[in-house]
Amino acid sequence: MNSAMETRNRSDWIDQIVEFIGEYTGKNPGYSPQVVAETVSDKFLISVGEAEKLLNYLNKESGRSHLCLTAMELNLTFNCNLACDYCFVRRKNAHDRMSFTTAQKAIDLLLEHAVVPNVAITLIGGEPLLEMELIKKIVPYALEAGQARNLQVAWAITTNGTLINEEILKFFAQYKINMLLSMDGGPENHDRHRRTKNGAGTWHQIASRIPLIKEYQPWLSGRMTVSTESLDTMREDFRRLIDLGFNTLLISPAQGATPWSKKQIEHYGFNFLAILHDYHELKQRGVPIFIEEFETDERYTGWGCQAGRSSLAVAPNGDISPCSKLLGLDDEAGRHIVGNVHQEIDASLLRPFQNPICHQPDGCKHCFMKCSGTCYAVNFEQTGNHFVSSEEHCLFWAVKNEIKKIAKTMASRPPISVNR
Ligand code: SF4
Ligand code: SF4
Repeated sequence: MNSAMETRNRSDWIDQIVEFIGEYTGKNPGYSPQVVAETVSDKFLISVGEAEKLLNYLNKESGRSHLCLTAMELNLTFNCNLACDYCFVRRKNAHDRMSFTTAQKAIDLLLEHAVVPNVAITLIGGEPLLEMELIKKIVPYALEAGQARNLQVAWAITTNGTLINEEILKFFAQYKINMLLSMDGGPENHDRHRRTKNGAGTWHQIASRIPLIKEYQPWLSGRMTVSTESLDTMREDFRRLIDLGFNTLLISPAQGATPWSKKQIEHYGFNFLAILHDYHELKQRGVPIFIEEFETDERYTGWGCQAGRSSLAVAPNGDISPCSKLLGLDDEAGRHIVGNVHQEIDASLLRPFQNPICHQPDGCKHCFMKCSGTCYAVNFEQTGNHFVSSEEHCLFWAVKNEIKKIAKTMASRPPISVNR
């Protein structure tokens, strides 16, 4: 073989390795560099050391600077018609509203870097329904721009529900915009935190709209946040929401700056178990209901969430952060702004989020519980580091795991007749 041919063969071979690494790391975003190096070594019969060198070189070259997006959160405004006491937006400038140009640029960014045929856009705030006129312009724009690139756009909106009217519901139905309502249970708990600017409760305002909402969106999703003060009535709050007509519930503890004691977490676990019991019974009676925690097996899907990896959040002024929950943090380092849609992104700042496994604390490497490292925003509030969880998280994770195991056992039992 002449030397030109040898060089060409070698370069083809390196191209194959590079292509393989690109595919592997693209498909396994939370990949372990060690595992990739070993896989490359096995497949291409080179030493692990050589594979590591090549991987480091490629990471440096590309800076992992390419964005591979599947989702975006658009913070349309930091303004809200309510004054809920645990809302981060209360500390923000209420005059910050997203312009149509900013929204267009954000959507263009998502579509340009989309790596799946269906991308997701979540409209969030403040209260996003305060910007209904903007929403009416954004949605058709994104759908048309998506179509031009052969991309589908799926929509979701997180709202406090107080501004919903029939016109809005018709628009949402027309464009298949899925609503997630924040409701903490019965009026006692909901109104403790979610109040108007005059201090009045909002539960009745929202509850009275639910029958109309269900005419347009029969399957209703809600977020039930459990605070340490509402622990005792968790089970009643769950039942209240089901009676109101909610079908999917995201039940989670209010974690952040206010810590939970071990006793409170234990109490949360017992109440969650009681909810599982009710859930099982309701399902047996044919009530249409779904709680992900009770239905899906806990599988280790990698370290870290999608924030900054496949999803970005855009603030009303165009600032880009890995997640809107991070945008809510007071600390600039916590917000982790990586650029602005009107200027450019410093993609190197996203690297820790694109490859969070490299920032996994040593204690987690050997932990038998195999969690995914929880929310970066909660981590930052509790430990000052996006990638380091507090003990509180580990305890909640242990509780969640035990409940999942029980849920699995209950689901495998034959249905029993329930007389009520
Ligand atoms: S449960 Fe706690 S110690 Fe274990 S991996 Fe998760 S964060 Fe780390
Ligand atoms: S887990 Fe936290 S940081 Fe990750 S996407 Fe959810 S809210 Fe954002």
